[in-house]
Parts: sequence; C-alpha cells; structure tokens
Amino acid sequence: MLKGIGVSKGYGIGRVVIATESDISYVSAENCDPAVERERFNKALEIFFDKNTKLAQKVTETVGEKEGEIITGHIVMMQDPYMRSEIEKSIDEGHCAEAAFEGVCNTFIDMFSSVDDEFTKQRAVDVKDIKTEILGILTGTETVDLSKLKKGTVVVAKELTPSMTACIDKDNVVGIITEIGSKTSHAAILARAMEIPAVLSVANATEELKSDEVVIVNGMTGEIIPNPTNEESALYLQKRLEYISEREALSRFVGLPTCTEDGIKVDLFGNIGTPEDAEKICEYDGEGIGLFRTEFLFMDRDSAPNENEQFEAYKKALLVMKGKQVIIRTLDIGGDKDIPYMGLKKEENPFLGFRAVRYCLKNTDLFCTQLRALIRASHYGNLSVMIPLVTGIEELREVKKLMKKIMQELDKEDIPYDKNIKVGVMIETPAAAIIADILAKEADFFSIGTNDLTGYTLAVDRGNANVAYLYSTFAPSVLRSIKNIIAEAKKAHIPVGMCGEAAADPMMIPLLISFGLDEFSVSATSILATRREISRWTKNKADEIAERIMSLDTEHHIVAELEKLTAN
Ligand code: PEP
Ligand code: MG
Repeated sequence: MLKGIGVSKGYGIGRVVIATESDISYVSAENCDPAVERERFNKALEIFFDKNTKLAQKVTETVGEKEGEIITGHIVMMQDPYMRSEIEKSIDEGHCAEAAFEGVCNTFIDMFSSVDDEFTKQRAVDVKDIKTEILGILTGTETVDLSKLKKGTVVVAKELTPSMTACIDKDNVVGIITEIGSKTSHAAILARAMEIPAVLSVANATEELKSDEVVIVNGMTGEIIPNPTNEESALYLQKRLEYISEREALSRFVGLPTCTEDGIKVDLFGNIGTPEDAEKICEYDGEGIGLFRTEFLFMDRDSAPNENEQFEAYKKALLVMKGKQVIIRTLDIGGDKDIPYMGLKKEENPFLGFRAVRYCLKNTDLFCTQLRALIRASHYGNLSVMIPLVTGIEELREVKKLMKKIMQELDKEDIPYDKNIKVGVMIETPAAAIIADILAKEADFFSIGTNDLTGYTLAVDRGNANVAYLYSTFAPSVLRSIKNIIAEAKKAHIPVGMCGEAAADPMMIPLLISFGLDEFSVSATSILATRREISRWTKNKADEIAERIMSLDTEHHIVAELEKLTAN
C-alpha cells in the first residue's frame, strides 16, 4: 500500500495511466534576430491565449466559475506587462524566444517558491504550468493531453498542473494520484470541484505504480492500494456506491432552509480557521460563520500579523459571506495551541493557565491591535466578536471597555465601523456555565464550546489516555450544563449557538432542538448532514427523547439509549 494526502474525497477504482511529462528541450541559440524571435513568441502567445480562453470557458461551464478563473488566471499572468517586457528585453539581447521566455519564467518561479506561504507557492506552480505549455508550442512538442482517456482511468503523474487537471474529462477519470501537491494546490481544488477522488504527495508514485494495473484510490485516508484482491475490490466498490448515494442524498439539502420537520427554523453556520475557508462554507451552503478561530492567522509565522494584515483577513471573510453573520473569536492561544513567538512560559497546567482572554487582557497591545482590526473590518459585513474561555463577567466588561476606547479613536480618525457590533461569549468553562444567568445580562449572544466545556466539566485531560474514557459530551453533567446554558440565554432573550464538535453529532441534535438551541456551527463538510439531521425531528419527538435521556443517570445508559432512539 502507498500513502499520500487525501485531498479530494471519495473512492476510485480503475486502471493506471501514467501521465509522463513531455520533453520540451531545445537548443538555446544566441545572436538571434530579435524581430523573428518576437514574432515567434507572439504567435505562440496567440495560440496559448486561444487555447486557454476556450479551456477556461469549458471549465466554467462544466465545473464551475471559480475553477474557470484558475485558467483565466494563467491568461492574466501572461498579459502582465512587466513579464512581457522582461521577455522582450531578453529577446532584444539576442536570445531565442525559448531561452528568453524560460529565463524570465524561472526568475518568477524562484521568486514565488521562496516565499513561505502556500498561496504564493501556488503561483510558482502556475508559472511552471504556463512555461511548459508555451515552450511546448514554441518547440512544436505535444504536451500531455488528458482529455481523451478511457473510462475508468486513474491518472498518475509527478505533478498535475492546473491546465492538465482542467483538461480531464470527469466522466472518464475515477482517480488522481501525484507525487507532488497539497490540499491547497490548484490541482486539488479542481479535483474537488470535479468530485474526482485524489491523493497527492505519494512518494515515487510514477515508479511504484505500473501502467494499466488496477489501483484503488482512497481520497478519504490518502491510501493507495495497487493490485487489490477481489475482496478489496468488492469492498471499495461497495464503499464507492455508498459514498456516491450519500453525497446525492445530501445534495438535496442544498438551498433548503434549516428547519425541523415541523418547521422550527434554526441557523446553520460553519467553523473556519482562515478567510479562505469561508468560501468552503458557502460551497456547502452554510448560512453564516459561527466560529472564526483567529489563532490560525498567528500560527506558522515568526511574528504576529499586524493590524492591516488582520483587517484584510477579517474583511475578506465578511465579503465572502456577503452580509451573513460572521462570528470572529478573539485570539485563543495557550492550552494546546502554542505560538512560539508569543513567549508563553511552560506551565504545570497549561489548560488551566495563562491562555485565551486571560493572555489577551494582560497583553493589551497585541489584543487592541486585533480588536481594532476587527472593529475596522465590521464596516464590510455583519461581524460579531466572541470571547473565548470566559470565567467571569469582568472579562466581558474589560473587553467591551477596550472596544469602546478603540471606537472613540476611530471616530476621531473618521474611520467607519459598525456601531452595533455584537459581543458574545463562548461558554466553555464550568464557571461560565454556572453564571450563565449573570453573563446573559451583558453578553449579546452565547456560543457553547463543547470541546472545552466537556473537558473542564469532567476534569479530564484529553491527552491522558488513562482518563480518556471519561471524555464524553453525553455525560449527564455536561448535558445538564448545556441545557442550563440554553435556558438562561432564552430567559435573557439572547441567541445561543454551539460551535463545539457536538453540534454536528446526530445523537446530540434532537437534544439541542428540545433545549431550544438557536444556531448550530459545524465544519463545512458537516453542514448538509446536520441540516438533514435537524429536518428529521419534530419538537415533540425531540422533547420526548430529551425527557427520557435527562432522566438517565450514567453516560453509558444515555449513549445506549440515544443509539436506539436516533437510529434511522
Ligand atoms: C470548543 O472548545 O468547543 C471550541 C469550539 O473551541 P476550540 O475547539 O477552538 O477550543
Ligand atoms: Mg475552546
């Protein structure tokens, strides 16, 4: 078995076609006639523009607008006046068109590859793709054509460029395997949009796999099974059928409101870590963002993002969501989320230590930079601020005070912002749960963080295998806490959501409907399944289940009973 990164879900079984790269070598000539070389280059460009305009149109029609833009992006790159003038300069120095063009491309590739950011690195792949294509035209070499493959093909390549992927006929290709590539590469984005299972970053795939042999591509786990046994083939064909029928069943929920069977409307939001993830929430028809974990903007870098960088990130998420609510959580570091440059000291009990809002209120320069970026961004959509790990009302008051001060500064500077930004708290500590009535008087909304609430309520360290068996959101203590939090929010007439993993748990959903949860915030890929689960229940039926469950005295009994009561 081979292993890589599963970047496009699903199971594919088919025969291998190795897409070998074309040999586009040429003899580099000096002292060429610039007029002749310019003309050759311009002709090649014409062919490139013509082919890619048609390809972009085809991809837009058959895959989607956003995916078509990847190919349009190549056209735009080649229209870049700076790039064009650099190539012409080199031609004027006597280089042949191939050498002039390749030299300039290589400069761009080196420049983009050296930047430590996935997005910019992807630009290098785009330029490499353009380079291969135009050199192919200039040298008259046939480049790889993946548009005419047989049905049931698994394409195996060192690297799939966006233009190669875009040519793929999705009716004929059942899987993609490459040696290079990541979740964010354009090939991965296109594979996902075309719903072709894909596994990238499989070491030596083009050597390990042989042309025409049967192979299984597991886009879920990233596993590749060459020459499967009959049993393996039967198992994966079955999985494939189940996966496709589940996907079709879920696609019926796209565009529908999120309601119980008897018409009670709730909000179904998504959880994100970067502004780009917001696009995924829209793709899965999320109705807003219930949790933007901003700490991801601070990770994998050497210093904190400045105000403008943060402002752009928040603004981007808001613009993508086009006026739908976006709840952005202030920095939640510490505990299991260390950021080296923040200088967090080693602590005996990091989960009970200097983290989240506690850290922010003691590092007000850093915190106010974030708050100012958030408040400025609020002008561009429907932004709410959420505070993590609250244990007392003073924390909410202090944050509000800082926000008020920043708003006064912005007023003086004539910078626009939303004067009615909502400020809510995450209820994820037993302290907050117990004083939910107090917090509800001053918070604009609650969001229940069951991931932490479960751990803190049960005093279970999730990293400790000896006590992991105790970690369950279905423990009677945690369920009572959730019920109480929702009831207090209702009493105070403030909305209450849940952004912990439990919000997407089919066994939890009827309980949450019964308790009166207003908003479910789940990962992008759980949105449609959650909408379907919610639509299964009436309030009466959910109440019946909740009454029965809340009368039980152990987690074990609760789970066993819920398994029976929620079975399809
Ligand atoms: C939670 O604790 O439930 C939560 C959503 O926050 P995080 O998982 O980021 O700690
Ligand atoms: Mg948490």
